[in-house]
Amino acid sequence: MWENSAWKYARCPRCYRQELTTWSLQYYNPPSSTMLKLHLGATRYRCAACRCNFASFKPCRDKKIWRRRDPREAPADE
Ligand SMILES: [Zn+2]
Repeated sequence: MWENSAWKYARCPRCYRQELTTWSLQYYNPPSSTMLKLHLGATRYRCAACRCNFASFKPCRDKKIWRRRDPREAPADE
């Protein structure tokens, strides 16, 4: 059984771990489905174990990488 709160945190889509870091658009060119999530305000996550880069709307259980969302990062909609 999962903990009650386990479902609400981001986890790796491959190995389901919750030990996540972040990645930069400078170093990884995500698929369009991931880009779409990012444009909608998702957070970039990278699995520390299998190095899978993905995006999720859920917070990470590890608070140290959970930073405030900067509204200026939102893409300009022209
Ligand atoms: Zn993983």
